[in-house]
Amino acid sequence: MWDDSEQRLTQISEEYVEILGLSVNEFKARFNRTEAYATLVHPQDRERFLANLAEYIEHRQAYTWEYRIIRPDGEVRHVLESGIPVIDDHGKLSRTCGILQDITERKQTETEILMAKEEAEFANNAKSEFLARMSHELRTPMNAILGFGQLLQFSDENLTEEQKSGIGHILAGGKHLLQLIDEVLDIARVDSGRMELTSEPVSLQHILSSSLLLIEALASSHSVSLCKPDETDLFVNADEQRLRQVLVNLLSNAVKYNREGGTVAVDVEPVEDGFIRINVIDSGHGIRPEHQSQIFEPFIRVSGPNNSAEGTGIGLTISKRLVELMQGRIGFDSEFGKGTTFWIEFPQAVVVTKSDMQPHASASAALAEHLRHLKILSIEDDHANQELIKQVFEEMSSAELTGATNAEEGIELAKTTQPDLILMDINLPGMDGLEALNVLKADPATAHIPVIAVTAAAMREQVQQARDTAFADYLIKPIDINRLITAINTVFQDN
Ligand code: ADP
Repeated sequence: MWDDSEQRLTQISEEYVEILGLSVNEFKARFNRTEAYATLVHPQDRERFLANLAEYIEHRQAYTWEYRIIRPDGEVRHVLESGIPVIDDHGKLSRTCGILQDITERKQTETEILMAKEEAEFANNAKSEFLARMSHELRTPMNAILGFGQLLQFSDENLTEEQKSGIGHILAGGKHLLQLIDEVLDIARVDSGRMELTSEPVSLQHILSSSLLLIEALASSHSVSLCKPDETDLFVNADEQRLRQVLVNLLSNAVKYNREGGTVAVDVEPVEDGFIRINVIDSGHGIRPEHQSQIFEPFIRVSGPNNSAEGTGIGLTISKRLVELMQGRIGFDSEFGKGTTFWIEFPQAVVVTKSDMQPHASASAALAEHLRHLKILSIEDDHANQELIKQVFEEMSSAELTGATNAEEGIELAKTTQPDLILMDINLPGMDGLEALNVLKADPATAHIPVIAVTAAAMREQVQQARDTAFADYLIKPIDINRLITAINTVFQDN
């Protein structure tokens, strides 16, 4: 208790002086004056302490201050001082009741947490950087493997049966590896909090049709029939691309772990709490009760009659994490010997219009007739990729292909040769593809030429960045030939 008329503390508790490392008598004898007390305050905090005190004397308002004190034995403690003024009948400050708390431990914990957080952030950034590099480094050689493998398959009349089967193995192995790279990167991205998801109303009619379309070929190769759901005008809140990824995973499992002549059906039903449930129902062999608790664990592939089905054992792990990141729910019911129903639930979205509900056009395997004589400029520093693109066009059309291995050379060629289309790698030596695009778009001589980005940068942020720019389309390596052709057909259909 500070008495203003006496300018000293009149009531002092043992605990108070203990924090300062003093006895009551020592305190009274040496520090019971403001100026003397201020000498206990850490020199770096003293000026602020005195300024706070002056302000308190002027305004007489309750306060809480944090500062450090140095005990006579040299030990530094963090303290929290709070006080309230007691005003006399004449409106004058008579006394101040205050308490002092030692918050040193709390401060240390805070500092440790802050340091741990900084370290974790640093590690996270390093991880993300590593992922971006890994993704690029692993996908680039896959581009050559899958690309040339596909080309060999196209020219299959000169191949022996053994060679054809060998190419089949190269492509199957390559695709499996690519899927594994993508899935491991996805898990790492979710774990490092780097998975960026949007939440927007997604038409169930649209998403189910487009997902079923992607699964049709697999279903017919397994002799499994797909039963389409009834038309629906329901919408859910989710990230469309990721929701499709989850649905395709559930549908492909329902096909892979089915029996010959089996069925996969999809239906949609509203459930409690404003959620909509999508059921993927298969007539497969089901999951044994003893395996059911492990199904969402990574790399778990439980044994069943279809042990040989292709897969990595992480599809369901990613699906669960993605669904939960999108505020959804996932689960399944399975009866061994009868079949399984996997379900996902998302909050229903209320939308006013029903635009864009048409399913996407399916990929076309051929360049449109009028596009067979296009002049194409490919800006690509990797020799194998350049060669692959050249061979693709030689195979498919009489397109005239010019190549440049860096952005500067590419820009020059674009001006002088006036191609109909530019295929641009993004990770180029020197000027990168994004910068080169800006230069092309800023020059009236080249601004009209559509540019399709072709890059191994599969990281979502980079894809997003490229999509936000003026690229006509964006292809991720390894190049899927059908996808490339569809992109070219679409660019010229729109123009
Ligand atoms: P993958 O299919 O690549 O092995 P998943 O994570 O998608 O990986 O699935 C994990 C395992 O769960 C599968 O290997 C399979 O044993 C089992 N499984 C998944 N879906 C079904 C299903 N519809 N019916 C029976 N078993 C299934």
